[in-house]
Amino acid sequence: MKKNQELTLRCTDLSDLGYGICHENGMTIFVANLLPEEIARIKIIKTTKTYCIGRIVELLQASDQRVEPLCPKAGICGGCTLQHLSRSAQLSYKQKQLESLFHHVNPDLNVLPVIASPAPYYYRNKAQFPIGVRDGKIVSGFYRPHSNDIVDIDQCAIQNPKINEIFGWIKNHLSLKQAENLRHVFIRFSEQSNQGQVVFIGRSDEDLKDLSTRLVKTFPDLVSVVFNRNERDDNVILSDEYEILYGQDWIEERCLGLKIRLHFKAFFQVNPKGMEILYSKALSLADLKPDDQVVELYSGTGTIGMLAARDAQEVIGVEINPEAAANAQENARINHIENIQFVCQDATKFVHSWHGNADVVLVDPPRKGMSAQGISDVADLHPQRVVYISCNPRTLARDLGLFQNKGYICHQIQPVDMFSQASGVECVALLEQTDRSCQEAAADD
Ligand code: SAH
Repeated sequence: MKKNQELTLRCTDLSDLGYGICHENGMTIFVANLLPEEIARIKIIKTTKTYCIGRIVELLQASDQRVEPLCPKAGICGGCTLQHLSRSAQLSYKQKQLESLFHHVNPDLNVLPVIASPAPYYYRNKAQFPIGVRDGKIVSGFYRPHSNDIVDIDQCAIQNPKINEIFGWIKNHLSLKQAENLRHVFIRFSEQSNQGQVVFIGRSDEDLKDLSTRLVKTFPDLVSVVFNRNERDDNVILSDEYEILYGQDWIEERCLGLKIRLHFKAFFQVNPKGMEILYSKALSLADLKPDDQVVELYSGTGTIGMLAARDAQEVIGVEINPEAAANAQENARINHIENIQFVCQDATKFVHSWHGNADVVLVDPPRKGMSAQGISDVADLHPQRVVYISCNPRTLARDLGLFQNKGYICHQIQPVDMFSQASGVECVALLEQTDRSCQEAAADD
């Protein structure tokens, strides 16, 4: 197969990244915006030894699951890869992909039906819009897939409407000079607390103070405007150096009755209603008892740990990001939770040297999952249960395999579709000790 070659293909499946999958002469071709059962004229735009990437030239036969996307830039922008697929079909493909992935880990593993996001559109509480100047005009929106080309947008169909309003205002009021000096505008808005935040990210803060004053006059819900100086050449969006242009460097979020102080550099789930479902499921699987000791790894601003502290005797949370760990400590104080402590440390290092007791371990690692050493050390603590929250099913499957080798088996996974219109799904997995590891634990005692 050669670059620029055109051929007619039938799509047979959908990948977990939302690409249509076609086969021709033993080669797999991934095609954006193509759905199973569809037939299209395809142009090959990239070839590798193991697969090719194609682009639709003409759709010859459409699937009856195809729908009209809400956003005019769907299919061009790299954000939502599934807006052209009906909502129910999005859920059933995600379900099918998870079932086939986890079947390889353990054929008896039960993948419960994916819980749909309560809001299919306008649900996100955070956006990072790249900014640039093209032909003397400001362009801002999202990147085209696999490129640094900015697709110019006016609003985004999965962002909170307030984020769209603030974004629109900034785009209209930035000067060309300011836009040239900026790389991204980061906007967070909490619907529950009505607090918003803007972080201008770039080389120079020229005239941003004045712009910020006008911005907060227009949007009184903004409690934080920050300039983050980033002169790096790589893809890292936020750097360490920043100055507050207005207010503070955090906003307040909420989760299941907790107040969460959230620094702009700290992680928070992007779908707040989906998050409440996800964390409630995690807590119910953890089945905490009043005398349980809980270890929570990758604790961020402490949300899950503080929820666990309502039911358990004591919780210790571990988080590597100093801003998030400081937020977590503050959050325990403002929510009057006394049976929790937070440690700012690498999770693997922490479990390796920790000698306390753990009845239940909760983990919520980033996309790359846990380390093999961390899994081995968690198993050596002999908790009764491990509840694993994951935003990446592939690394979750790998880690469930490693846990299984250490005597912890997963019988059920609850997926929650936090990323409606886009690929990806969050999962909560419950791991329990097998008889073998119970015996080892008893022998250790
Ligand atoms: N449980 C939190 C955060 C989950 S996101 C919440 O509910 O919001 C994953 C978190 O793991 C992030 O806060 C990230 O800073 C943290 N993290 C990443 N690598 C880590 C490591 N090696 N050790 C400890 N924490 C880590």
